[in-house]
Amino acid sequence: MSNEQNEMEAASSKKLYQGVCDRFERIASFIDLDSKVHAIMSQPKAELMIHFPVKMDDGNYMLFKGYRIQHNNLLGPYKGGMRFAPEVSLDEVKGLAMLMTLKCALVKLPLGGAKGGIKYNPNDHSPEENQRITRRFTIALGDNIGPSYDIPAPDMGTNAQYMDWIMDTYHNLYGRKIEDKAVVTGKSVACGGSVGRASATGFGAVYCLEEWAGGQGVSLEGARFSIQGFGNVGSHAALKIEALGARLVAVNDHTATLINPDGVSATELASHVAAHRGVKGFQPTREVDDADRFWGLETDFMVLAALENTVTEDNAGLIRAKLIVEGANGPVTTEAEEILTENGVHIIPDILANAGGVIVSYFEWVQNRNSEYWNAETVDAKLREKIISAYHQVKTVSATRGVSMRQAAYIESLKHLEEVYLKRGVWP
Ligand code: NAD
Repeated sequence: MSNEQNEMEAASSKKLYQGVCDRFERIASFIDLDSKVHAIMSQPKAELMIHFPVKMDDGNYMLFKGYRIQHNNLLGPYKGGMRFAPEVSLDEVKGLAMLMTLKCALVKLPLGGAKGGIKYNPNDHSPEENQRITRRFTIALGDNIGPSYDIPAPDMGTNAQYMDWIMDTYHNLYGRKIEDKAVVTGKSVACGGSVGRASATGFGAVYCLEEWAGGQGVSLEGARFSIQGFGNVGSHAALKIEALGARLVAVNDHTATLINPDGVSATELASHVAAHRGVKGFQPTREVDDADRFWGLETDFMVLAALENTVTEDNAGLIRAKLIVEGANGPVTTEAEEILTENGVHIIPDILANAGGVIVSYFEWVQNRNSEYWNAETVDAKLREKIISAYHQVKTVSATRGVSMRQAAYIESLKHLEEVYLKRGVWP
């Protein structure tokens, strides 16, 4: 990677962390958050940074850098994804860990907030190397994770297979107890994962979208939408929206941008991405080089399901969608949000829109601890009920206080944390 790319990534991670902190500070002063709660929340409780060596297939060793940031565990065990990507940095995981605390508090889960990852690209390694890297990272984390202490989950660059490896390594090294399964969520169903976990984040975002559309008197049938990111979150969201009768007209991922006013089949694109790890090559005649065309396309709504900071002051003014659904964490910078608000673009914010993942992770944790297996209908009905209830709480705060949905979500979340801190007191 060039120095210039490294610098750009560092700046982007810093921007995410700064953006989360700025939004937190603004709301803390708006609601006059208790000063000790303010101080506690403004920093993570623990920051773990680890270097560990792993043997590659050619016999050489490579050194990897891993992180686990434990932001807050007032409401329950630390909870948050593991991101394996070249851009992973301390600032990035710090920002994402704080968002997890706010998200779990917003949807009233008995869980705290954390985030972690390894700075590397899993696509550059064989499955055997990825398995050794994951297991070695788990060993290095030691008892800093655990089913009652800190519970990782999938995020960018990881999936059920990685969670199975973490669970198996932890089980063999530290526990050998039945509850060890609950050390991670997002496992394969065969290894104790919950049905409906893989689709939960995308589906949760769509349940919020349906509520928004109902509130606006807008029909999703025949609506036109675009999506950035067609991985776990983006593909499941697109498939669900397609099933509701809306038409996907543009897709952007790290490989290409596709635009087709007649509609891109999300079902066929999902098969293509599974085989080719990106949208490139799908209906190649519809590929465009000009990213501005993606952002400037007139659509009813846009789903952001890729990285943080993809909507900035440079492209926010181009956006003509009526609504942005933040499937990704932190995709809109604070500066971009000001432009969007001025232009009347609504935003369903990340800590609400993508909370479906952690909601079903919580269901998986509960099932593991009770040796239960819920069916798909039960999981989906419980997810729907929980996220819709959070949506309406946020909507009510937004209306009564005259603030944006994001500000309302932060208010709900911080008010809940403050209440618990004040009732429990800060020990000793
Ligand atoms: P993923 O790895 O499955 O997919 C990531 C997608 O982003 C891919 O389509 C990739 O092509 C695209 N992408 C990467 N770099 C890009 C770039 N420079 N430009 C455009 N597209 C790019 O990851 P995921 O699990 O779907 O996560 C996506 C986002 O959703 C992340 O912000 C993640 O933190 C958030 N999220 C995920 C979950 C979950 O359950 N997986 C839960 C909550 C939030």
